[in-house]
Amino acid sequence: MTRLIFLGPPGAGKGTQAKALAAHWQIPHISTGDILRQALLEQTPLGIKAQSYMDKGELVPDHLVQQMVEERLTQPDTEQGWILDGFPRTVQQAAFLETLLQKLEHQGEKVVNLDVPDEVVVGRLLERGRQDDTEEVIRRRLEVYRSETAPLIDYYIGKQKLLVINGNQSLEEVTVEINRAIAHRESAV
Ligand code: ADP
Repeated sequence: MTRLIFLGPPGAGKGTQAKALAAHWQIPHISTGDILRQALLEQTPLGIKAQSYMDKGELVPDHLVQQMVEERLTQPDTEQGWILDGFPRTVQQAAFLETLLQKLEHQGEKVVNLDVPDEVVVGRLLERGRQDDTEEVIRRRLEVYRSETAPLIDYYIGKQKLLVINGNQSLEEVTVEINRAIAHRESAV
């Protein structure tokens, strides 16, 4: 049973790794960024509410993403495990998730922190060229990451759930390191 949360700055490679591992383990890859972008594309009520925040590199309000994640994690395909990518992003979201997972009896989740230096992250995001990847928005997303999301590193260290992975190496090397850290953790429990 694999339940993984991916943490890390924008551009750390969370999405790429999460997608590959989810396909390998045949469990859903739940990316809040992807769900929000889809909602935006379809101009659903959620998408309309989220748009102005996403365009500026701000976080979408907690209650909106929390409701979205709750709906997704209560679908039957999550019973075999899941990978969360882009959530939680605030301490409030992490506390919400903890309560939700208890309620759903989803235990034993681990948190992968993809560690990548800032310069590398900015370069990668500029190359990616997504609609919200202009330099100004990228800079804001990094600031928001530092103030709102980075505190989750200590939060999950405190809960003894954190696995730190060097994200500043090739895609294949990162995958190998994640697999190794998870296997090591499982044999230790
Ligand atoms: P990145 O590629 O920068 O890691 P994502 O694709 O995960 O970004 O998210 C894109 C945007 O969607 C974020 O900048 C934010 O506005 C919004 N978003 C995604 N997940 C969350 C969340 N958990 N809480 C609040 N906003 C979110």
